[in-house]
Amino acid sequence: MTNYQFKIQEIIDKIQSMKAKVVGLQFPEGLKIHATDLAREIEEQTDSSVLISGNPCYGACDLSDKQMEGLADLLIHFGHTPLPIDEKIPILYVEAHYQLESMQILKKALKYLEGKETIGLVTTTQHLHLLADAARILEESGKKVLMKEGTGTLKGQVLGCNFSSVQDLHVDAFLYLGSGNFHPLGIKLSTKKTVIVADPYLNQVRNIDEFADKILRIRFARITRASEAEKFGILISSKEGQSRWELAKNLKKMITKSGLAAYLIILDEITPQNLMPFTDLGAFVVTACPRIAIDDSKMYEKPLLTPQELEIVLGLRDWEDYEMDEIKY
Ligand code: SF4
Repeated sequence: MTNYQFKIQEIIDKIQSMKAKVVGLQFPEGLKIHATDLAREIEEQTDSSVLISGNPCYGACDLSDKQMEGLADLLIHFGHTPLPIDEKIPILYVEAHYQLESMQILKKALKYLEGKETIGLVTTTQHLHLLADAARILEESGKKVLMKEGTGTLKGQVLGCNFSSVQDLHVDAFLYLGSGNFHPLGIKLSTKKTVIVADPYLNQVRNIDEFADKILRIRFARITRASEAEKFGILISSKEGQSRWELAKNLKKMITKSGLAAYLIILDEITPQNLMPFTDLGAFVVTACPRIAIDDSKMYEKPLLTPQELEIVLGLRDWEDYEMDEIKY
C-alpha cells in the first residue's frame, strides 16, 4: 500500500494501445522501491515484458531512453514532468502524486507567515495537485496567493535547477509545500526572499534561512580554496538534459583569458571516484546538474564550482552578486 498514485490503468491502456512488447520503467531513487510491484502488475495485466532501469535518476533531464533504445517500445518515466528534450523512444510521464491525509500543516505554517500578506506558493511534481487546496486555505486566512508557470515548469512547480516559476513574483514570502531542504534552498538562493517550508512528512514548519546561511558559508570556503587553483577541469554531462556544451566552451575561454589552464571533461556520472585520477587539477567547474557542486560538495576533495562561482574566483563577479546556477530549458 502506497500513498503515491501510479495511474496503473493509464499505463495499461497506453501499453495496450501501442501493443508494446517490452516496456521500460524508470524511477527516481525515492520511488524505485515500488519498481518490482509495478513491473509485476504490468506483466500480469498485459502481454508485455518489463525492463527496469537500475541507473540512478534524479530528474527528467536524465531519461533512460538512449539506454532502452532498440530494447523497449515504450518508456514509463515516473516522478517528473517532461522537459524539452529530444526523446529517442515514446515516453509516458507519470507524475506519481503523493496523497496527503490532511493539510493541517498549512495552519501551522500560517504562524510563520504573520505580517506577510502576499505569499508565493510553490512545490514539486509530487504535490502539484495539492496547490489549489493549499491556496484556498491560505486565502481563507486572509493571504493573497501568487503562483505562475515557469519556463519548462508548471504553475507553482520548481525543479532543483529551475526556479523560473518563482522569479519576479512580487511576494512577501514563499511557502514551500513538501519535504527536504533541496528545493527550498534553491528558491532562497534564487530569489533571496523568505522561504518557509511546510513539511507534511515531518509535520514540521521551518524557515530555510539558517540552512541557507550554512550552505553559503561552505560556498565561500570552496570559492576561496579554488582561487589557489591554476588548472581547472570543466565537467560536461553526457546526459542530454544536463549537457551545456556552449557554456562549457565559454568557461574554458574565460579561464584561459585569465592566464590559467582549463580542460574539458565529459562524463556519464560525476562522482568522486571519476574525478580522482585528475590529480593535477586544482578545482572543477560543473556544467552538468547545477546541484552537484552545491549539494554534494562534502563528498569531493577538490572544490567543485558552479559557473557563477567560477566568475567570483576569476574576479569577474562580486560575492555580493552570488547567483544560483540554473538550466533554462
Ligand atoms: S539537472 Fe539536476 S536539478 Fe535539474 S532536473 Fe536534472 S537532476 Fe534535477
